[in-house]
Amino acid sequence: MSTFSIPVTKTTHSKLSETDFSSLVFGKSISDHMFVADYQNGAWGDFRIVPYGPMEIYPGNATLHYGQAIFEGMKAYKNEKGEVLVFRAEANAKRLNESAARMCMPQLPESIFLEALKQLLSLDRDWVPQGKGSSLYIRPFMFAMDNYLGVKASDTYRFMIFTSPVGAYYSKPVSVKVETTYTRACEGGTGEAKAAGNYAASLYPALQAQKEGYDQLLWTDGKTHSQIEESGTMNVMFKIKGTLITAPTHSGTILKGITRNSVLQLAKDWGQAVEECFLTVSELEEALKNGSLEEAFGVGTAATIAFIHKIKVNGKDYLLPEPKPEAFSKRVLSTLDGIKYGEIQDPHQWMTTI
Ligand SMILES: *Cc1c(COP(=O)(O)O)cnc(C)c1O
Repeated sequence: MSTFSIPVTKTTHSKLSETDFSSLVFGKSISDHMFVADYQNGAWGDFRIVPYGPMEIYPGNATLHYGQAIFEGMKAYKNEKGEVLVFRAEANAKRLNESAARMCMPQLPESIFLEALKQLLSLDRDWVPQGKGSSLYIRPFMFAMDNYLGVKASDTYRFMIFTSPVGAYYSKPVSVKVETTYTRACEGGTGEAKAAGNYAASLYPALQAQKEGYDQLLWTDGKTHSQIEESGTMNVMFKIKGTLITAPTHSGTILKGITRNSVLQLAKDWGQAVEECFLTVSELEEALKNGSLEEAFGVGTAATIAFIHKIKVNGKDYLLPEPKPEAFSKRVLSTLDGIKYGEIQDPHQWMTTI
């Protein structure tokens, strides 16, 4: 990878001393600096690291009207020695470009993504919290910059990265409701892109579920509402009669989660039976009724593993037993944590030391 030096304007007022690392609320504290790159005349340039702060855009900014915006979510961790380690950054750089292609946005060379991330994290390394469970959440994103009201793909774009220290994520088991009215993604749509608009469209159905007392939705396919796709903004996995089941990603409606991919890799390493297939709502209901559903959990960067303890299917609530200490979901969570904090071997070279 070619390295290049990014000009840095350091903040004159670091917020580090004002930040209470013992009570971090997700997404509230933002680190001192951000990376910015602009795309014009067919090329990325004007790379800079500057203090995190507001920026000016025109009211005619195309993103505000037509929603060309994509993002990534990833994390950096601090090990016992105080070194900063990032989890699978290359996979995020690659996925950003897959989202960009779907949204008619330009490709960002992975070397620029990775080098910018490295230099930003080096500068703000004191913002990476130490301690098991804590991490630095990283938000890379790209959006249209044209000041033009015609409906078309923008000619200019901005790519940015900023970061936010997050505390130990207490993964309280969640309750979910099988959603059969609203749709997150449909074939031919944008479900497999990490596009801002997918999130906007999911807010209303999620709010209805919350009003009914559920934490999240179990999304079903848009055509028949008979197959389970994802849970909230995570991929979802089930263990039924010893087999791990998760939706395949070929339909274009499933986000290709990096946590999903990592969990499947570990399952393979361990000889765990896996089936990448669509679980139908009736199969899920049947497995809940006859007690063959052993585990259900969401997988994603924020929580890594979100245990599901209650599922509403066809108007009826089913409770799942507490996962036992030897459960697959527990083992996979502690193994991923061990790798991320540099406590155990990293057999697939998922971590990069900054
Ligand atoms: C980001 C995201 C995921 C999880 O992806 P990770 O790379 O594991 O964080 C799953 N589903 C949706 C809809 C997402 O946006």
